[in-house]
Amino acid sequence: MINYPDALMIIFQNLAVLKKKLIRLQQANGYHLAEDIRSETDLPLFDNSAMDGYAVISKDTIGATMKAPVKLRLIGSVPAGRPFPGELKTGQALYIATGGVIPRGADAVVPIEKSRNNPPDAVEIFTSAARHDHIRFKGGEVKKGNTVLTEHSYLGPAQLGLLAALGRFRVMVYKKPGIAFLATGDELIEPTKKPGVGQVRNSNAIMVGKMVEKLGFKFHDLGIVSDRAEAQMRKFKDLKLPDVLLTSAGVSVGRFDIIADTLKTLGLEVLLWKVAIKPGKPVVFGKIGKTLYFGLPGNPVSAAVVYKLFVEPALLAISGSSQPFPMIFEAISESNFKATSGRLHFARGICFYKNGWRVKSTGQQGSHILSGMASANCLVLIPPDENVKSGEVVRALMLDGIRVGFKTAIKAFSELLP
Ligand code: AMP
Ligand code: MG
Repeated sequence: MINYPDALMIIFQNLAVLKKKLIRLQQANGYHLAEDIRSETDLPLFDNSAMDGYAVISKDTIGATMKAPVKLRLIGSVPAGRPFPGELKTGQALYIATGGVIPRGADAVVPIEKSRNNPPDAVEIFTSAARHDHIRFKGGEVKKGNTVLTEHSYLGPAQLGLLAALGRFRVMVYKKPGIAFLATGDELIEPTKKPGVGQVRNSNAIMVGKMVEKLGFKFHDLGIVSDRAEAQMRKFKDLKLPDVLLTSAGVSVGRFDIIADTLKTLGLEVLLWKVAIKPGKPVVFGKIGKTLYFGLPGNPVSAAVVYKLFVEPALLAISGSSQPFPMIFEAISESNFKATSGRLHFARGICFYKNGWRVKSTGQQGSHILSGMASANCLVLIPPDENVKSGEVVRALMLDGIRVGFKTAIKAFSELLP
């Protein structure tokens, strides 16, 4: 059986980033850049004040203190967006708002807190201003021609704000994938229906669907199909293949586990089956033409864990991300975990901070215990054949948080294995 980092490598090597498209900034949230962004302007666009205060000539304020203020003649005010038409001369000051254009002649701003207004036309300065104090200079943040964001960067609110500030209103991005999901199993019913004896509510569809939608990708629920080949064939007959096809259940060694065989008749090439992990061992990965296929196990926890360990990184990678993998961190365990023979165990855990990061078990660890997944915020990595005792340092994987590159993840996992 193949180990997890090797399995990740197989998946990573079989991914192709989706096509590019040009979209408006308003639509670009959650996409990844398909171009480097070079600025066509300076930022700030002009020299401006960082404070509400007084634009002055710094030399005029030499030696000013609270006890011995310097008195300057107030000749007007500079609101943001309304530059002063004249020039500041020795002995003069101009009231200036944050963001106001620094008037010609001025070389510093004295914050309002370090002054006193003497109506009608004087201001007392309590501090000796240094040249350039509280001025934000044109191009101080970004110079025309600078690269501000690189290809594969995630476009979230801060990145879109930056692009708006630079005047970019269209960007080249990688397309987001479309994902379809089919739940297989004779025992399955819609969650809204009342189960008869032996029937089970299809909880995988909503769970996987919402994890996909959380990434901002389109999810198409194909419903439920039985464990019979003809029914499965019928389901796929008219299906336009999505970028990524997911199924749940029927991937193990049981007599009714036939979904991969059905898909083989439709051209599925299996690239991976069975990985030395727990839960999620029977995971299938393959391709039907350009469509990526993941067969998730049916047990709800296995399905969720396989989604996090294989599917989500793949979805992010084909949408252009260079950092698709959940971050792995070290923590002190507050629980005992039993070893699993030959397999890397991803135990559901709760990570918290108490004199450093700590993790504890969510309780029962069976692959059907969905309540454990519902209270987990991390997966604790228990190396094959190694017990973990309370007080020992373990590694854990963040379920929803910072992400890292594939190679970083593969290295981190390889270090855990014999
Ligand atoms: P299987 O992978 O077909 O061996 O199924 C393993 C277990 O997962 C069985 O107990 C199934 O009833 C259960 N199961 C399969 N599909 C689902 C689903 N969509 N939602 C909830 N439980 C499921
Ligand atoms: Mg089954």
